[in-house]
Amino acid sequence: MLSGFTDISNILQQNGATFITFSVILGLMVGSFLNVVIHRLPKMMELEWQNNCHELQGKESPETTKYTLASPRSACPNCGHKISAQENIPIVSYLALRGKCSGCKAPISMRYPMIEALTGLAIGLVSWKFGYTSTTFFAWIFVFALIALTFIDFDTQLLPDDITLPLLWLGLIFNLNTGFTDIKSAVIGAIAGYLVLWSIYWLFKLITGKEGMGYGDFKLLAAIGAWFGWQMLPTVILLSSILGTIIGTSLILLANRGREEPMPFGPFLAIAGIAALFSGPQVANTIGDLIFKLFI
Ligand SMILES: [Zn+2]
Repeated sequence: MLSGFTDISNILQQNGATFITFSVILGLMVGSFLNVVIHRLPKMMELEWQNNCHELQGKESPETTKYTLASPRSACPNCGHKISAQENIPIVSYLALRGKCSGCKAPISMRYPMIEALTGLAIGLVSWKFGYTSTTFFAWIFVFALIALTFIDFDTQLLPDDITLPLLWLGLIFNLNTGFTDIKSAVIGAIAGYLVLWSIYWLFKLITGKEGMGYGDFKLLAAIGAWFGWQMLPTVILLSSILGTIIGTSLILLANRGREEPMPFGPFLAIAGIAALFSGPQVANTIGDLIFKLFI
């Protein structure tokens, strides 16, 4: 058993193409799981809040059916048809079913295979960039977390602590030895990431009386700071603000989105975080220097 594992490990190590193919397939399968997380985690949080409220009021918690990432089995929201194992193969099943439920022929959202494909592609790129190393393994987890956070925030305007906080800790652990940065920069990055957005939030609130962001955004930037160090923060903030402004304005102008409608900031932070992962420290240093020269 162990020698079989060593054999596979040797093949992956020696053959880059095999490793990348393996990564893409793994990414597709995890992408399928991320669809479940994106759909269920916010609902699980809501149920927990309701239970907490009931407890605080001294009432008995209502009998709810067990709702976790694993149970009940995924079903068609239209007819309740339970999705079988064959119908759960990433992308393949969607194509085989021609995007329709096998029970009632209701259309299945394009988003499911898209998130699977996105995850497969992103994980393939990570493996291509970092090779067969422990960095790749950590970077995979970073990407998985950011994909889940992006879509959860997009749907619900929430960035669950259950994802942002472990992500922050993992970044610090990764940088204890050989990570993306030294541990000192990582710790300062986590603190500064949180404080920068926290300050902007309060400044904005004092001036306009509105809340421009949520606490989840601070925690996400803290996590990104923990992964890449404080040196990367100016780049990440700049890039996410530019993206947010361009996309936010386009949505208001083109899609008639209301000016007052809340706009999640997490997806833009996540895109900037992924860009940080692929760009490496040189880009951060260049942009950091530029900002210093402009303002200081
Ligand atoms: Zn159905």
